[in-house]
Amino acid sequence: MCGNSLGVLPKRSQKLIQEELEVWGTRGVEGHFDHPHGRHWMYIADTIHPIFADLVGAKESEVACMGTLTANLHLMINAFYRPTQDRYKILCEAKAFPSDQYAFASQVSSHGYEPSEAIIELSPRPGEFTLREEDILSAIARQGSTIALVLFSGVQYYTGQLFPIRTITKAAKEQGCICGWDLAHAAGNVPLSLHDWDVDFAVWCTYKYLNSGPGGIGGLFVHDKWEGQPIRHAGWWGHDPATRFAMPSQFSAIPGAQGFQQSNPSVFATVSLLGSLQIFQQAGGMGPLRERSLRLTGYLEELLHKSKWWITPTRVGELESQDEKQPTLGFTIITPSDPTSRGSQLSLVFVPMGGAIMPKVLKGLETRGVFGDSRKPDVIRLAPCALYNTFEDVERTAAMLEEVMTVVEKEDLA
Ligand SMILES: *Cc1c(COP(=O)(O)O)cnc(C)c1O
Repeated sequence: MCGNSLGVLPKRSQKLIQEELEVWGTRGVEGHFDHPHGRHWMYIADTIHPIFADLVGAKESEVACMGTLTANLHLMINAFYRPTQDRYKILCEAKAFPSDQYAFASQVSSHGYEPSEAIIELSPRPGEFTLREEDILSAIARQGSTIALVLFSGVQYYTGQLFPIRTITKAAKEQGCICGWDLAHAAGNVPLSLHDWDVDFAVWCTYKYLNSGPGGIGGLFVHDKWEGQPIRHAGWWGHDPATRFAMPSQFSAIPGAQGFQQSNPSVFATVSLLGSLQIFQQAGGMGPLRERSLRLTGYLEELLHKSKWWITPTRVGELESQDEKQPTLGFTIITPSDPTSRGSQLSLVFVPMGGAIMPKVLKGLETRGVFGDSRKPDVIRLAPCALYNTFEDVERTAAMLEEVMTVVEKEDLA
């Protein structure tokens, strides 16, 4: 149940990596141009680009398979965050993934701004766990003229909330802001139409729902309306492949997102991703996968709602905001209950809050073979992945949680 954190190993990826090791061992450097399986290393990223384009709803020229998420995020901010005296702020959700927070803070600092002043972090209303669309839109409307960059995560890593990407992007554009997205938890999880939604840029990693393996290679989207924009951090892999190996001294960018490529990509990381993406293709892409994901996640929610320990989020929100004594043992789901506002993940908060309960539950689940993914102090995230989790997995997860809660209750009474 933790494909939102690290997806499972596709057998195909294992085979492809073995093949590349074999080619490296037998052909050496020749593998760049003469490859027994047709995957010339020189063009290895091009095996990914058409599949990326399908996955995120883009043209092939708008995507690049390269680098890693945080590095790509910096690249994109460097390219698109052009603060002026009047317009220099970055708008994001509060409690964004730490790497994103560090990236925003270091970027505004390097332009001479104070992060606490230049970064607007939107928080949920008191007693609530996720952001309301109306509150995001009104923040953009009110402060838009001072905002240079609107940058949210597509699916929030902690709460599992899927933001209305199209609506937020449109509102940001109307205020003259650049709008970028961190799709770490959205790519391979929910359908995306980045081109049609007029997103300026997006970045994502591939080791979560896309199963490329730990530290896998990243992804990048740049809308084709930005084609011809100067590349500020050019490298030889962004240079026109027709003359790349002529080693000219003048940089001539590949048009579109692939002009941002800097280094020759890790072949092992790339084919590991390829093995997984071929399965996405065989499954028919995000349409059928989303359909299955809605049923799987809905089923998990239904079973958890039937639990003896389920508490309404409103009740838990009150407990939290009133800081009152929390006698009840139980859990709630802080992920939106509206399926259109979430992906595959449900985030459970355990009460009493403060870190006493969650670790016990997590350990109990793990000893019973159910692996979720925790965030201290109180959250366990469960993500039934459409590509490989089954309805039986979901039933077993709910049943084991019930068993573990009974044990925790007994321990606490003892
Ligand atoms: C997983 C994740 C990251 C991780 O960044 P890496 O550079 O791949 O280590 C960053 N941001 C978000 C929102 C994430 O979910």
